[in-house]
Amino acid sequence: MQSNHIEQQLADALFSHGIGQLSIRADGEIHRFDAPDKRRGNLSGWYVCPTDTIAVYGFWHTGEQHTLTLAGEHDPIAAEQARQAAQRARQVRESHRQREQLQAAKRARRLWASASPADRHHAYLVAKQVAPHGLRQHGDRLLVPLFAGGQLVNLQRIGPDGGKRFMPRAHLKGCATIIGRLAAASRLYLCEGWATAATLHEATGYPVVAAMTANNLAIVGRMLRQRLPASVAITVAADNDRHTEGNPGITAAKEVAAAIRADLTWPRFSCMDCSCTDFNDLARCQTSREGAI
Ligand SMILES: [Zn+2]
Repeated sequence: MQSNHIEQQLADALFSHGIGQLSIRADGEIHRFDAPDKRRGNLSGWYVCPTDTIAVYGFWHTGEQHTLTLAGEHDPIAAEQARQAAQRARQVRESHRQREQLQAAKRARRLWASASPADRHHAYLVAKQVAPHGLRQHGDRLLVPLFAGGQLVNLQRIGPDGGKRFMPRAHLKGCATIIGRLAAASRLYLCEGWATAATLHEATGYPVVAAMTANNLAIVGRMLRQRLPASVAITVAADNDRHTEGNPGITAAKEVAAAIRADLTWPRFSCMDCSCTDFNDLARCQTSREGAI
């Protein structure tokens, strides 16, 4: 049944997405609500009624966006108002996210300040056979400091079992951590994970930047290339995700290396039956095999 009130039309449309119990306010403001397929409090859904004949709604996590109008589908004025409303919604979301990231950065700095130097006998460091390299520890969690623009903005917390978590709602894109000193270095390595960085640093003595995820390699790599003198050589040390279709580690690293004129390397495994993917795995796998001989 079609209603001639935008509130009712919007409520019907949201109901078809599994969202009930929402009292619609067609007041021109951006309103947010929980998407039903995400955790409670996700606030991924949004709607705005720029006039009493138009509603625009969508979900941030999927990027989907819909327009409802009582003025008829092809009314150009309605379409323009809907476009502007959607743009305002994006700005609201962006400023909300920046606020959240600022708050997360404050929490990260407090946690970092209250933490102690990491115990070299922490189960994760023992398992990975690397030194703490300036990590800190809070309770039984290791803290890996993540920087953006020279500021500590996020922490990767690593439990004794190797479980890893970033600070919720913290800045991650373009964030990285470093082992060793960049100043006066003639070469540096760029890799994904912290333990890989530790192994590479211990093996080569060069500074190593860990971008944390394959997704982050490109943006961190470009930043390094822009900031460092052209004479500094960069080697991208890929994870060799040989058991994953398309090998995302090597694929991402190849693209970055080409884009920033970097060398590229990845671990070559003689082991076939193990789950080794990165240079830390390689170092430990070799050690255990030599020990077994
Ligand atoms: Zn292996």
